[in-house]
Amino acid sequence: MEKIITNFLQEVNQRNTNEPEFMQAVSEVAQTVIPYIVANDIYHGKNILMRMAEPERVVMFRVPWIDDSGEIRVNRGYRIEMNSAIGPYKGGLRFHESVNLSILKFLAFEQVFKNALTTLPMGGGKGGADFNPKGKSDAELMRFCQSFMTELFRHIGPNRDIPAGDIGVGGREIGYMFGQYKRLKNEFTGVLTGKGISWGGSLIRPEATGYGAVYFAQNMLETRGASSEGKKVVISGSGNVAQYAAEKAIQLGSKVLTMSDSSGFIHDPDGIDEEKLAFIMQFKNVRRQRIHKYVEQYPKASFHKGEKPWRVSCDIAMPCATQNELDGVDANILISNGCYCVSEGANMPSTPEAILHFHNNNVLYAPGKASNAGGVAVSGLEMAQNSLRYSWTRDEVDQRLQHIMKDIHQACASYGKGKEGINYEKGANIAGFVKVADAMLAQGVV
Ligand code: NDP
Repeated sequence: MEKIITNFLQEVNQRNTNEPEFMQAVSEVAQTVIPYIVANDIYHGKNILMRMAEPERVVMFRVPWIDDSGEIRVNRGYRIEMNSAIGPYKGGLRFHESVNLSILKFLAFEQVFKNALTTLPMGGGKGGADFNPKGKSDAELMRFCQSFMTELFRHIGPNRDIPAGDIGVGGREIGYMFGQYKRLKNEFTGVLTGKGISWGGSLIRPEATGYGAVYFAQNMLETRGASSEGKKVVISGSGNVAQYAAEKAIQLGSKVLTMSDSSGFIHDPDGIDEEKLAFIMQFKNVRRQRIHKYVEQYPKASFHKGEKPWRVSCDIAMPCATQNELDGVDANILISNGCYCVSEGANMPSTPEAILHFHNNNVLYAPGKASNAGGVAVSGLEMAQNSLRYSWTRDEVDQRLQHIMKDIHQACASYGKGKEGINYEKGANIAGFVKVADAMLAQGVV
């Protein structure tokens, strides 16, 4: 088996040199899916995983824009259309200086499995630009978004490819891109998700990824007869996913101890309550300030410059910032301090070494493709509401989100159950694979 996996990864690597994040994502899937393929005749001789590891289409383009001092700047834009076997391409746009082909291909590959798990008909894609939105004026951001969409618009559409937000792309950026798309196409369609409520957005969409990751943690805890009530939670990040993971965890009676950004983390031993979280949301989302602002208002809390929050003792860890932010050393520290549940809000935040430690120490570990699927699931519900020209209430959307997270948990459990409990990583990979692979087999070699 090891040889088959190694040969497969070597072949993928030859075609994708210098793409470490993409190889990491493919390798993680191959370890659990190839044994499943070997054990199931219907997938033999179809080269199905190799086909899934090759994007259907990659678009790269120039994004020229003018800054406030009149200087012309150039960034690179991307859209990876990975797989459309079960529906139109769907996945976020990331604006961050680190964006490159490897990062977007890993995200697009993960997205294919994630979207399959949601039970909704969505293929997988991802895109973005190596643009750093930090410190840009509102006018600069708008000009950048308009230039980006002036190329992207010809590749997307409500039945073709429906982007959403990701790191650096929130409601404001979606608004500017939607406006430009509408102007260029002269039509009002549900082409992006994460839209404002008054112009086609869905209630609960901003909250969905973070809420969903907490619901997933709760589903995992229930398998051990436990609940979120009274649990200590350590969260990284302070963006969209982290904020709403914190909000739901607080609502369910947990004590949220930390939040972070790329400058460091804050630790509040009394717990971040609703009022304190509202303060964070205000200075992060409106004033766009850094996380250390928190300790000016709440001096009992401490700020740890340049550090990650994983050495704070907790029951539940929720990495909600970025890929590979939690390594083997961090995992060991978390476990030795009593952490027994990890629900990933970010995509691929745990390194392979960290995941190995979680498995070896019986930690309830949910990979992002399962636990953060609530965001794209509610994006799917936004698309449904746009098609129906209708909107569901907050409670209706939240109920659907909770059902979907339960269904994803169930799918992971049924494919990941073993003697030592549920391996959610294996379950998520195989459940996602089966749905997409079966559709690809039915559609022939295309
Ligand atoms: P945001 O841009 O809203 O927030 C990102 C947060 O992560 C910020 O606090 C940011 O800090 C921090 N961060 C980003 N890069 C780094 C880094 N290299 N090191 C340390 N901290 C970093 O993004 P989201 O909350 O939307 O996304 C967070 C994660 O969740 C990503 O992995 C994304 O792919 C994933 N995700 C998002 C979904 C969504 O619906 N938005 C859906 C599913 C997954 P700073 O401001 O200092 O950069």
